[in-house]
Amino acid sequence: MTMTPPPAHQDAAATPELSLQLWRHGLRCTPSRLCRLRLLSASGEHLSSAELGGELRGRGLPFDQATVCRTLETFTDVGVAHAVHGPGPKRYGVSSEPHHHTVCEECGRVRDLAIDHMRIAVERITELSGVRTGAAGSLLLYGRCAHCSQK
Ligand SMILES: [Zn+2]
Ligand SMILES: [Zn+2]
Repeated sequence: MTMTPPPAHQDAAATPELSLQLWRHGLRCTPSRLCRLRLLSASGEHLSSAELGGELRGRGLPFDQATVCRTLETFTDVGVAHAVHGPGPKRYGVSSEPHHHTVCEECGRVRDLAIDHMRIAVERITELSGVRTGAAGSLLLYGRCAHCSQK
């Protein structure tokens, strides 16, 4: 099946990869979706919907928290983003490069673990448990982050 990308929105033209990501996942590239995805992506972090709301507020952008929640859920449903469950609110990351996660049980901060760095550990887990992990991001390790360990 061949599809042609939608006509570039002025905003979309500035971030072609992100608008293409929305389009590939079957989402209409609305300015507000693109803006939220861009902020999430630019943060390089996994953000809760309240934290993403804070980013929008910090930039003086109008938003409504319920819609931000819904947008993040939509992103997760279609696979543009993924949700990580830790203590406190769910945090969302952009699903560009597949990765595993660590979650701080104290502050809830989510960090990435590169798939390549964890290959041996993942193989060992399969050996010990018989569980075959998915291609991407199956590992979720809970602990205390470097910052919280110093307290
Ligand atoms: Zn992630
Ligand atoms: Zn922490």
